[in-house]
Amino acid sequence: MTSGNRPGFLIVFEGTDGTGKSTQLELLRSVLQKKGFEVLATREPTDGKYGRQIRELYSNRHKLSLEEELELFLADRKDHIDTLIAPALAAGKTVLCDRYYLSTAAYQGAAGLDPDIILQRNDFAPVPDLALLFQAPIETGIKRITQGRGDSLNDFEKADYLLKVARVFEQLTLPCIKHIDASASIEAVHREVLNHVLPLLKT
Ligand code: ADP
Ligand code: MG
Repeated sequence: MTSGNRPGFLIVFEGTDGTGKSTQLELLRSVLQKKGFEVLATREPTDGKYGRQIRELYSNRHKLSLEEELELFLADRKDHIDTLIAPALAAGKTVLCDRYYLSTAAYQGAAGLDPDIILQRNDFAPVPDLALLFQAPIETGIKRITQGRGDSLNDFEKADYLLKVARVFEQLTLPCIKHIDASASIEAVHREVLNHVLPLLKT
């Protein structure tokens, strides 16, 4: 299903860790709900059975081959689309999704798979109306995670790997992508997000 021929809108939040995706998704959700939009806020990996298997990899990534890991992300996405995303879009909801297939292209691409092939493997997935690509220096993101969120870094969040991930993100050229300067303040980033989203929703 391509964008443009369905009642709802699909807006995805992409980028490396600690760039503020989840923070901005919540701020946008709140604005849109106040304006009367029906919003589905959701995330990948999901909390479903495949998503839970992916989360187990966070502490021990090398349990699976890269191909097996990709299959798990694709299975999780198929399930997510069938059970939540497609029904919400068909019902005219605005779907805000924290990570989607650009993240698979960038993270599994940085680990050694071909990003173009990963995107092809996602051709079952609804194309986003808007993919907000959050970009900030890797050190900024890592500082926010370790200091702000109080977390330690998992196997997907190491600096040298994240630099490669950021490079793959930069090379993606899909028409739905809008670049966001995520190094700015939370308020400034929020305004930038609204500048992209409100015209799309014609509000
Ligand atoms: P992500 O979902 O991209 O990993 P988060 O939204 O979880 O990032 O943000 C990571 C941490 O950084 C949180 O503690 C959050 O409050 C903080 N943070 C988010 N955006 C900004 C910003 N623009 N400036 C400073 N800190 C931020
Ligand atoms: Mg997040």
